Amino acid sequence: MSVRVVARIRPLLEKELDKDIIVCADSAEEGKPHTIVKIPSPKNEAEEFSFTFNSVYDQSTSQETLFTSEVQPYLKSLFNGLDVTLFAYGVTGTGKTHTMRGGLKLADRGVIPRLLSGIFRRGKKVAKESENDTMVEVALSYYEIYNDKVYDLLEPPEARTPLGLPLRAEANGKTVVVGLTERTCEDLKDFEKLYIEANNNRVTAATKLNAHSSRSHAILRVKITQTTADGQVLTSTASAIDLAGSEDNRRTDNNRERLVESAAINKSLFVLSQCIDAISRGDKRIPYRESKMTRILSLGQNNGITVMILNLAPLRSYHLDTLSSLTVSSRAKRIEVREIENEVVFKQMPRTQSSLSSLKANRQPLR
Ligand code: ADP
Ligand code: MG
Repeated sequence: MSVRVVARIRPLLEKELDKDIIVCADSAEEGKPHTIVKIPSPKNEAEEFSFTFNSVYDQSTSQETLFTSEVQPYLKSLFNGLDVTLFAYGVTGTGKTHTMRGGLKLADRGVIPRLLSGIFRRGKKVAKESENDTMVEVALSYYEIYNDKVYDLLEPPEARTPLGLPLRAEANGKTVVVGLTERTCEDLKDFEKLYIEANNNRVTAATKLNAHSSRSHAILRVKITQTTADGQVLTSTASAIDLAGSEDNRRTDNNRERLVESAAINKSLFVLSQCIDAISRGDKRIPYRESKMTRILSLGQNNGITVMILNLAPLRSYHLDTLSSLTVSSRAKRIEVREIENEVVFKQMPRTQSSLSSLKANRQPLR
């Protein structure tokens, strides 16, 4: 299976209603769902570029529709032991945070609160319906990468060390953050409290540095642990990533402090685009190690399911940056990921031989 790449075009904001729209969604055949984004050539307006994605969501798409179509179908896979990674990519102001976090009103809630709500619901169902007293535990980590340093968002900004947290490659090939806080969540209320607090930490830390939180990558990691009465443990992880803005800062008016910052942000996003290019060309060497964000994201190396959401603003003022983000993300479609479930491990010796792999047997078929 390949990385799934979908585009979402945001509506015009109130203050933009008089502005020029240049990006639109289209279908390959009339009556079919949208899969194409069209944008004029910056050099010759009469010429139009088309980019094809797995799916394209236009201005009118609700938060619920996006979640139901792009995330909900993978909840089952997640509980079957597959890791799921969702990430939002795009220029600042295109709707990444709106898509991932969303607003406070129920209808405005983004992918993350809906994902958690889905996980708690499914967790309850698995626990109730299991034949072997499966216990489901949900634990949360949340961190940001700013200037290529990793900071725990579940800790107050005062607790940050200047160097941030180190990364480590595990034997199974996954990259983990060393010393990251993990908090168990019992229900959606628990989650929301932690999440709001952590997002406040993110803003406070950015304000202290006279920066903006859209200049860091925010990574939420939800670990699901299913344990049977006889000690079989199946762990899987859902990651939801709100990447920093992909705009080219050479074109924007930056002060000096911002430029140092932009260099690091741009570097990680530049490395990401290089990784995407290298993988899609079939290169042997992929430059993952050149930034922390790409080490963590490990596109195409992580087994499981990856969905990339490209956020777009339809305005002319974003023309060149929109074109560049369309180019990068349309190449990401060529990245292959293997759908391999995490292994069931034993916490203690099983009581009986016959209970072996009952967790695997309990699993439901994939989508
Ligand atoms: P980013 O995180 O990519 O910088 P934001 O998510 O902050 O962008 O979105 C920029 C602005 O556009 C915000 O005011 C947000 O509420 C609004 N917005 C983005 N996407 C949508 C959408 N689909 N519907 C309504 N408003 C949106
Ligand atoms: Mg944002």
